[in-house]
Amino acid sequence: MAYDPDNIFARILRGELPSTRVYEDDETLAFMDIMPRVPGHVLVIPKTPCRNLLDASAAQLAACMATTQKLSHAVMKAFGAGGVTVQQFNETIGGQEVFHLHFHVLPRREGDRLLPPG
Ligand code: 5GP
Repeated sequence: MAYDPDNIFARILRGELPSTRVYEDDETLAFMDIMPRVPGHVLVIPKTPCRNLLDASAAQLAACMATTQKLSHAVMKAFGAGGVTVQQFNETIGGQEVFHLHFHVLPRREGDRLLPPG
């Protein structure tokens, strides 16, 4: 499937839409999810165009995973969590709503309730 350069996350990357950026390096960006499913819900995206896991390059995946690991440690510390749930959705039938590859980093605390996607 084609990559839409005007998807919401592409516009966030270009600075056309606001976001709360929490981490950035040459290859990736992490920012707070606008509708957090738990406190501290962060999204990690590659800076280069990629629709989802199905068209991602090995380099994009490696960069996103390295940032996802960094952010997992960071949100656990910042939100007093004992672990993280990492989620990733592909195509509409797979639950994807924004068509730029992203990983959800969800800090988890004892007794919390992870809201369903959407
Ligand atoms: P998915 O495509 O994996 O189903 O989820 C897309 C995620 O992007 C959702 O968790 C949703 O809350 C988040 N989201 C949608 N629009 C925006 C936006 O404009 N800004 C931010 N920060 N997050 C967004």
